[in-house]
Amino acid sequence: MVAVLDAWLDLVHGSRCVGCSAPGRLLCRRCASLLPRAALSVRPTPCPDGLAPCWAAGEYADLLRVLVLAHKERRAFALARPLGHVLAQVVHGIPGLDGAGSQPLRLLVPVPSRPAVVRGRGHDPMLRITRAAATELRHAGCPVRVARLLRQRLPMGDQSGLSHAERAANLHDSLAVAPGPLRATARLGRDVVAVVCDDVLTTGATAREAQRALEDVGIPVAAVGCVAATRKRNARSGPSSLPFSTQAD
Ligand SMILES: [Zn+2]
Repeated sequence: MVAVLDAWLDLVHGSRCVGCSAPGRLLCRRCASLLPRAALSVRPTPCPDGLAPCWAAGEYADLLRVLVLAHKERRAFALARPLGHVLAQVVHGIPGLDGAGSQPLRLLVPVPSRPAVVRGRGHDPMLRITRAAATELRHAGCPVRVARLLRQRLPMGDQSGLSHAERAANLHDSLAVAPGPLRATARLGRDVVAVVCDDVLTTGATAREAQRALEDVGIPVAAVGCVAATRKRNARSGPSSLPFSTQAD
């Protein structure tokens, strides 16, 4: 029903830039030029034990946030490409993965949405973004492949509003590697290394759970690559305390 409403609104009001509301394309040239093109080293605080190095293009705010939400919640599919471009820059900027050498094959592993969420939204936003990123990276000569290895194992409650500890407990064993995609990966007959791909890094608990599931079946995880990372809202230290140590690559 919401999809029908969105389509009707677009038809009546025409398309506007999600960043600045200028009429025309969903992301105008000016806003597109403002998108970050870098990989920042980010780290949740507190950080889940053993979490692989995490990288993101920037803070989950302003244009990045608007883009992620419009793509995810409003099915603005045309935004998968610019978001994929941002993710591609992140993956390309991860030290050790930036070369165009043939080995190992980089598996971009999107964190899956829950099936009910995919049904509700009518698409799997992270899969769409990851595919767009992989297409761009392949054109740049990077040996990458999207691997839909992860699936949700347990029905899981809404993660929003949970504390760090509650979120970690809720997530433990929530992801598993699907046998079919795992066999397909084995048949590649190549050394592989995984990059867990997600849209927003918050506590790192989801990324850590994805990493655990992959490592449990012997797939090494080199890094976590995200479009954006959140800043923690902490009443004690003000509205913009930094949960992440961020540093330019
Ligand atoms: Zn704009």
